[in-house]
Amino acid sequence: MNPLKWFKDSKLHTKILIAMLLGIPLGLILGPKAEYIRPAGVLFIRLIRMIVVPLVFSSLFVGTASLGDIRKLGRIGLKTMGYYLCTTALAITIGLLLANTVGPGRNIDTTTRDGLMTSYSAEAGAKIEVALKKPGVMDTLIDIVPLNPVGSLAEGNLLQIIFFPLIFGIAVTLLPEERSKPLKTFFEAVNEAMIRLVHIVMKIAPLGVLALITSVVGQFGTDILLSLLSYSLVVTAGLFIHMIFVYSTAVRLFSGMKTRDFFRGIRPAQLIAFSTSSSSATLPVTMECAEDNLGVSEEVTSFVLPLGATINMDGTALYQGVAAVFIAQVYGIDLSFGDQITIVLMATLASIGAAGVPGVGIITLAMVLEQIGVPLEGIALILGVDRILDMLRSAVNVTGDASAAVIVASTEGELEKPKNQEADW
Ligand code: ASP
Repeated sequence: MNPLKWFKDSKLHTKILIAMLLGIPLGLILGPKAEYIRPAGVLFIRLIRMIVVPLVFSSLFVGTASLGDIRKLGRIGLKTMGYYLCTTALAITIGLLLANTVGPGRNIDTTTRDGLMTSYSAEAGAKIEVALKKPGVMDTLIDIVPLNPVGSLAEGNLLQIIFFPLIFGIAVTLLPEERSKPLKTFFEAVNEAMIRLVHIVMKIAPLGVLALITSVVGQFGTDILLSLLSYSLVVTAGLFIHMIFVYSTAVRLFSGMKTRDFFRGIRPAQLIAFSTSSSSATLPVTMECAEDNLGVSEEVTSFVLPLGATINMDGTALYQGVAAVFIAQVYGIDLSFGDQITIVLMATLASIGAAGVPGVGIITLAMVLEQIGVPLEGIALILGVDRILDMLRSAVNVTGDASAAVIVASTEGELEKPKNQEADW
């Protein structure tokens, strides 16, 4: 069989997986030179990010403007927020339980500790500065209402981009039919075109993923991974436990969807989130997977997923629980039960308003550490492996958002038989 033809005929997720597997040896061979391939990956990320704003705006507008019943929107909102908060709190609890039991920071020797602190202190300082400048929870909530909707589109402020089309759409439902129709038709067309664009961009996904994985492997030394092995393993185990147990149980219980169907449907989005380390950039793919492969209605997808990409980060929250305990252990600080509850509350709050972009979790972690009196400079200890863990937690983040979409859709009677089970883009 001709391997090229086989590759061409394979499903998208197979192509992406092959690209990932090829990226590992290529990165190891090229080492720091792999940096030269990175622009191809960055180009891919920019192409999907480019679609986020018009896609979210148009699909939310279309969803709301065609909604007959405003109360339904409120109900969907409450269910979504409730699910997001519960799963986030559960994720941090899993992280805390694992970190306290295994104690990955208890046997880090002082040489490793001092080495890590020196190598990463400058980078840690920069992150801490950003964290300390972050607005408080109240300001974040107030900021959801944009002063200038066009400005928020230009800046790509996702929470504001969710808010405006929602109330714009509601206002349009109150207009007479002859007035609202042209607007709806226009945004429906924009929405359809954006979906087409996602499909077009996904054609080059394997190439983008190959470039991204190669450059990450190329710049990443294995030594650092070894010195932080038990910490990395605890985070990874926690993420798997959360993904396999919490999501499959929730999806099974509330929607009746088979675990296998759920994971198969969301696989392309997981792979893209893993490669790009960004749940916001993956949003167009997550939306497509939810609609085409999982059968979630556009109305639910367009609200639940953009909201999730901004405020629901279970993977990030879990990692923050482990990281906070790990750093405290290395410093020999005993965290009380109260401190651990503070971590749960702070990490849940911190994830709201933090956009799903690479490395944001480490910044919000600094906010958590500040609350429990653990030295902020401690983040230097874990920076070396953050890139790899970021990939994993981003994949969990998008899975969590998709599980919410399935559950909310099912309880609203908006879960249909999927068009495709496994989209072949
Ligand atoms: N990169 C993650 C995301 O986009 C956020 C983080 O944990 O840094 O979901």
